[in-house]
Amino acid sequence: MPNPWPILLGRTLGLLLLAGLLGWFIGHVTPVLLIAALACLGWHLYHLYRLERWLNAGVPIRWPDTAPLQGSAIWKPLYRTVYRLQQRSRKRKRKLSRFLEQFQAAAFALPDAAVVLKDDDTVAWCNESARRLLGLRPPQDFGLRITTLVRHPSFVEFLTRRDYEDCVEFPSPVTDVVSLNVRVVPYGKKRRLLLAADVSRLHRLEQIRRDFVANVSHELRTPLTVINGYLETLLDSDDMDRWDLPLRRMQQQAGRMLHIIESLLMLSRLETQGETSPPQTVKTPDLLEAIVEDAVALSGEHGHHIHLEADHQLWIRGWERELRSAFSNLVYNAVRHTPDGSKITIRWYEDPRGAHLEVEDNGDGIPANHLPRITERFYRVDRGRQREKGGTGLGLAIVKHVMHHHDGQLNVISLVGVGSLFACDFQTTQIVRKPLPVADRATS
Ligand code: ADP
Repeated sequence: MPNPWPILLGRTLGLLLLAGLLGWFIGHVTPVLLIAALACLGWHLYHLYRLERWLNAGVPIRWPDTAPLQGSAIWKPLYRTVYRLQQRSRKRKRKLSRFLEQFQAAAFALPDAAVVLKDDDTVAWCNESARRLLGLRPPQDFGLRITTLVRHPSFVEFLTRRDYEDCVEFPSPVTDVVSLNVRVVPYGKKRRLLLAADVSRLHRLEQIRRDFVANVSHELRTPLTVINGYLETLLDSDDMDRWDLPLRRMQQQAGRMLHIIESLLMLSRLETQGETSPPQTVKTPDLLEAIVEDAVALSGEHGHHIHLEADHQLWIRGWERELRSAFSNLVYNAVRHTPDGSKITIRWYEDPRGAHLEVEDNGDGIPANHLPRITERFYRVDRGRQREKGGTGLGLAIVKHVMHHHDGQLNVISLVGVGSLFACDFQTTQIVRKPLPVADRATS
């Protein structure tokens, strides 16, 4: 487009020159020049007014409407430019709103509930599934706090904790047959997207699996106990000498099966939230001493050097049966999975992070690629050999669940050729200090 300014300047100067000549001709130069300048100013003011109406009052000037402006050198290109910009922005807006509509339709059709939360936990937007799963009513509930609409204590605690690495599961406020898994993803400026998925099917399957294991174990326990009892009676009778070896083998295997079943029952109890009774104070040093005695008997002629270093004032809140099972599994493992004469050290101590039980051995260690899986059920590093040693493959799975039930953690460090260290770490809140005898208390 040619530069309009020389034309505008040329025309304005030409007009003023003509007005000057006319004024000189009639003998009134100044008034005629003034009239011409005012006419010029009025013309531009008129266009400014139209432009302002167009832009601010929203009175759209379609392109043909600007036809009367053809004569203007500066206003015609200006109108053209504004018109072009306006058209471009309209097109972009249309495109954006089409995209937004498509996005909203997709979010609306999501099978999971999606809720946009503001920084103060109020609902900014939610989709249709949020109505079905969380009981929200779009758009009436927009602007209300989500914790007043979904009040389950686990959800409220999860949201106030603001640790979004985790997720939370709770029954849907619409119907408790539906279990929800909720996670929150922060995005943009202080916005969060809450996603709730229906995990009822998974829960049902998990429940079926748990019930199946528990039922099978229960059903098998009685016949096996009976077989075991008869085998014992047969072994005790004098006229069964030639059956001695096969009977002993049968008894060994039956005993092993019973052990597996007991472990499976313990695991299924732990999975259904463990013992329901309230936790008691467990005198851990006494418990460990008894376990060490049994471990020495288990080692027998294998000659392990078992050493206990326990803080005798350190007790813990928990469930004794579970803790006995967890600690003995670790100590017996150290006996069963290390060569004869290995050194085993059991430590029970407190530090600022909590109470710790460590079982350390200088056995063969566990290769690093097996470590992430050793707490899985029936996982063994060397399947054939470990079965011979009489393990069930469930010991460490039990330890992990017991620790979880006690709000603690099982940590394992192991190096091939150096040994292994299994640590049960309990939080400080679980610790109970053994009360001092009355005489000591008076002197301290
Ligand atoms: P198991 O009944 O076979 O001992 P666990 O679940 O207790 O089952 O242990 C899983 C596997 O971890 C064992 O089979 C063994 O291979 C390995 N393991 C456990 N403790 C030790 C240890 N102290 N030293 C070496 N390997 C171990």
